[in-house]
Amino acid sequence: HADIAMYEAKSQGRNTYQSFKKEMNHAAAQKLALENHLRAALVNDEFTINYQLQYDNKNNCYKGLEALIRWKNPILGNVSPAEFIPVAEDIGLIVDIERWVFNKACLQRRIWLEQGVACGKLSVNVSAKHFSKNLFQSITDALSISGLPAKYLEIEITESCFITRFDFVSDVMKQLTDIGITISLDDFGTGYSSLSYLSQLPINAIKIDASFVANIPGKERDCRLVTGIISMAQSLGLDIVAEGVEDIEQEQFLKDNGCHVIQGYLYSKPCRDICTQLAR
Ligand code: C2E
Ligand code: CA
Ligand code: CA
Ligand code: CA
Repeated sequence: HADIAMYEAKSQGRNTYQSFKKEMNHAAAQKLALENHLRAALVNDEFTINYQLQYDNKNNCYKGLEALIRWKNPILGNVSPAEFIPVAEDIGLIVDIERWVFNKACLQRRIWLEQGVACGKLSVNVSAKHFSKNLFQSITDALSISGLPAKYLEIEITESCFITRFDFVSDVMKQLTDIGITISLDDFGTGYSSLSYLSQLPINAIKIDASFVANIPGKERDCRLVTGIISMAQSLGLDIVAEGVEDIEQEQFLKDNGCHVIQGYLYSKPCRDICTQLAR
């Protein structure tokens, strides 16, 4: 992309090319700053976790809650995980960050368990990069330190895990499910891999991506995609969660078509302490 942009800038004359170069330098400097701040973020204790509840509107209970990392840096301010997680993957920090998330979130879930808070399973996002770096150990460490039983833990993976080393990834998944952890497939429908893995791997649930949910019930094609995904999940015996549900029209459409577990601003915003939301 940079090459094409540079070519276009050059062909538009020298001035544009100069300003393009400036912009590139600026972007590179910004990226470097982000990387450096990120490297220090763990030791400086700049991360926190927000939790977002998943509501089951058929059984009127909370099915689970997703841990979502937050980063507040004194200089950069709040940086979204959509921005820094890919950087952490690139510079090899993702495993340390995810270990921190597992430890922190499992401990919190254990506390809620002791307090009798009925929030269901804790769900933690896992990067494809973590699989080859002893993911099983990271998770079992967090479980033993926190004392959280494995059946209260779910991991969310994406289709990008299956692009390479399918056999290896599948073995790790089997190890995890053998000790009672469940696995859900995040951002379903946005990846590029084949559907065959759904029957080959120990996947418990799929999460319909928010980009589809955003367009229901207005857009005919997305409605068809969503109903298709739901019926496929049902026929494979998979649980299904809809992400990014913001209004009752979306919820109604999902309900009418057999998807009863809802995650989104309609029921719950990600927040530090879910107890105030549970009390409602
Ligand atoms: P994700 O796993 O798909 O998480 C869902 C995202 O949608 C979250 O963004 C959440 O705050 C947002 N969201 C929830 N409900 C709604 C809604 O009703 N409307 C809209 N517009 N958005 C909603 P967030 O927290 O900014 O996280 C972005 C992404 O960063 C996550 O996407 C996930 O891929 C990644 N991420 C977050 N925490 C972690 C982590 O601990 N480890 C890893 N590897 N990735 C993480
Ligand atoms: Ca997720
Ligand atoms: Ca998602
Ligand atoms: Ca996403």
